[in-house]
Amino acid sequence: MTAPRRGAGLPRIDPARCTGCGWCVAVCEPHVLSLQAGAGRKTSTLDDEAGCTGCALCALRCPFDAIRMVRRPPGSSDSV
Ligand code: SF4
Ligand code: SF4
Repeated sequence: MTAPRRGAGLPRIDPARCTGCGWCVAVCEPHVLSLQAGAGRKTSTLDDEAGCTGCALCALRCPFDAIRMVRRPPGSSDSV
C-alpha cells in the first residue's frame, strides 16, 4: 500500500465536463478512480481519498480538463 505523499492534493472532478471516457481511471495506479453511472452518462469518481497518492496523472491525462487538483482538507493526511 502506498501512503499519500506529504502535501499531495486530491483530484476534484467536474461532472459537467467529464465525458466518461475513462482515461483517468486507466492511468490511476492505485485504482482509486472508477466510472459511475450519473444522469444519463458515466462520470469519473474518486472512490478512496486515502488511497490517492496525489500524483495528478489523472488531471494531466484528462483530455477534457475535467479534473483539478485541490488541497486535501485540513486534518486528512497533512496540512501543507
Ligand atoms: S479523463 Fe476526464 S473526461 Fe475522461 S473520465 Fe476522466 S475526468 Fe472524465
Ligand atoms: S491523483 Fe493519482 S492516485 Fe489520485 S486519483 Fe489521480 S491518478 Fe489516482
